[in-house]
Amino acid sequence: MNIVRQKIVKLLLGSSPIHSKEVMKNINETASQGYRIQQITPLLQRSGGAIFTRSHGLFIDEALVCFVREKKNPLYHYWLLRYDEHYAEKQIQQIVNFENSGGFNLSTLTPLNGFLDQTAGQGVGRGTYGLAMFFESQTERNLPLRLDRWILKPNRPVEDDYVPCPVMGCEFKVPRMTRDGPDLDHDQEKLKDYFCHQHMIFISPSTFEYKEPLTSIIWQEKEDLAALNRVKSSTGKRGAWRRMGRERDEDSFTWNVFWYLYKENLVLKFLKEIIGRSSFLIANAKNIDEAVFWSVEAGTGNTHQLLIDARKALGENTAHGTEPDVIFTGSVGAEKNVPLVLIECKLSSSPITNKAAIPDYYTNYDKWNRVFNEPPEKVFRVFGYQIVRHLLLANEMAAVGGRNLTPTVLLITKEQVPADIVSQMTSMLMNHPQNARLAFVTWKNVYDFVSSNQGSDKGSINKMILGRYLEGKTLGYDAKGVLQLLLPL
Ligand SMILES: [Zn+2]
Repeated sequence: MNIVRQKIVKLLLGSSPIHSKEVMKNINETASQGYRIQQITPLLQRSGGAIFTRSHGLFIDEALVCFVREKKNPLYHYWLLRYDEHYAEKQIQQIVNFENSGGFNLSTLTPLNGFLDQTAGQGVGRGTYGLAMFFESQTERNLPLRLDRWILKPNRPVEDDYVPCPVMGCEFKVPRMTRDGPDLDHDQEKLKDYFCHQHMIFISPSTFEYKEPLTSIIWQEKEDLAALNRVKSSTGKRGAWRRMGRERDEDSFTWNVFWYLYKENLVLKFLKEIIGRSSFLIANAKNIDEAVFWSVEAGTGNTHQLLIDARKALGENTAHGTEPDVIFTGSVGAEKNVPLVLIECKLSSSPITNKAAIPDYYTNYDKWNRVFNEPPEKVFRVFGYQIVRHLLLANEMAAVGGRNLTPTVLLITKEQVPADIVSQMTSMLMNHPQNARLAFVTWKNVYDFVSSNQGSDKGSINKMILGRYLEGKTLGYDAKGVLQLLLPL
């Protein structure tokens, strides 16, 4: 058989982040056929001019990539970084740390140089204007690899008895999980047969789970992990930590997004932009300083006291208290109109959840008529169990808190909640100024906010990291074996 031993591919390294995705697609297509990058040769070309966005000159925009045949092929990530002499080292290091934690090593760093014509006007300047960074995945066994849309097979049909590993280029197959056999809810020891040793994942017909749950977490600096551990060790969620390794896990996803907004001091701006337009009080809010993840304050590791008091006032069973994914609020003693935002995050599951038996402390709640203008039966049917509980809790927190807290329940979903359902819900809410509002946004809205706002740390690359994470986020395979994406960009 005649196999090409070395392959030459021309790549547009690009001057815009959109090119990064094309580069990754092109490289990984070749790599997954059993090749590894051997050498990258940048090319200097004449470009720019009157009708182009850049000045006349010579620029490195393209490269010739030489691939060599290798059975255990690695996969690649690519970053295009605008060169900034003040931050270059720090920024490269941040990207390297992120990629290292996901199982990738920096393999080639190529300067993108530009030399302007003397006759050209103001342009990108002379010299290095960007850096092209190629990261190669480690191919040794037993090292975790963070998976995303660029290194997962876009199509993975399941065979009758076997399920192929979802990672591009991997030919490993596991038996298909059956109704009677173990599934991802079983202990890892029982799932040995469904494990790919090269990629460190358990494989089901529609999704995967990392052996090492921490692989899901993108913020792995010391202080990030310390905060995560504070939350993790105090939260009452049983088994939640183990599920963090799952592709469709909502908790690790929630943490990655909202820990970023909190640590970069972007929460207030986020809330103002996302819900401020419809809420005068949020639009005028001054500060957010408390972040509560699954009932636990990220700063102290304590269960948020207001939450404990409000659950009690609501009459909730302590073991089954309502638990929003995230709560953001201002500190006690702050000025008037302190925001109190309860956030519920949904990835692929429906925001409207059913519950067969509704506890009577909700249906007999003595302040029901202050919150809703319809009877419980109808309200639960339209809002679903979870949203009703969040609204009741938000109101009770504001009442117990007694310091002009302005409560909002924010629901974040992949698809937009249909307008007729939103208006039906809105019409059932009593319109008191102090009552909790209900707000809906999509992950696309969140992504747009992240892409267009810089955090507090100058030169920080975290915005790019979270943007890349959201773009790459996958949600498993559908029945036809097509990879589902959070943001079909
Ligand atoms: Zn594999």
